[in-house]
Amino acid sequence: MMVQLQQQAERFGTDVRIGMVTNVDFSKKEGGIHKITVDNEKQIEAETVIISTGASAKYLNIPSEQRLRGGGVSACAVCDGFFYKGQDVAIVGAGDTAAEEASYLANICNKVTMLVVRII
Ligand SMILES: Cc1cc2nc3c(=O)[nH]c(=O)nc-3n(C[C@H](O)[C@H](O)[C@H](O)COP(=O)(O)OP(=O)(O)OC[C@H]3O[C@@H](n4cnc5c(N)ncnc54)[C@H](O)[C@@H]3O)c2cc1C
Repeated sequence: MMVQLQQQAERFGTDVRIGMVTNVDFSKKEGGIHKITVDNEKQIEAETVIISTGASAKYLNIPSEQRLRGGGVSACAVCDGFFYKGQDVAIVGAGDTAAEEASYLANICNKVTMLVVRII
């Protein structure tokens, strides 16, 4: 599927290059152009840069969380929600992501409880 996605992007003119971005210069010193260094050697210049380097889950960093990961504790409702179908589940957090995950789980779980930290 990933190969097909790349092929489709290339059909629409995308120039795909493989490499690790090791430095960026967004100061626009020279003519409003951003400079990206790839693998510490190659330079790419662009007027616009989209950063899509992914995200990682924010865990609570408590010992039981590590022990139960994959056995009741998850950081992705879409990925693991099915395993908790019809069950009572709890979500830690109350931001946009938590609300999105809660509305997804509400369709497949029996009860969804959101645990919200209240700052006094
Ligand atoms: C174990 C696991 C299971 C999952 N299961 C599901 C699932 O079943 N269903 C679902 O919908 N979602 C699932 N997800 C979530 C899904 O993988 C992510 O939401 C999705 O991949 C995010 O896409 P992305 O393009 O934003 O980031 P990513 O897929 O993380 O891609 C970021 C890319 O940026 C690259 N990168 C980072 N830094 C640099 C750099 N300096 N230079 C060049 N490249 C760089 C990385 O190598 C990576 O290829 C799962 C995630 C995990 C970890």
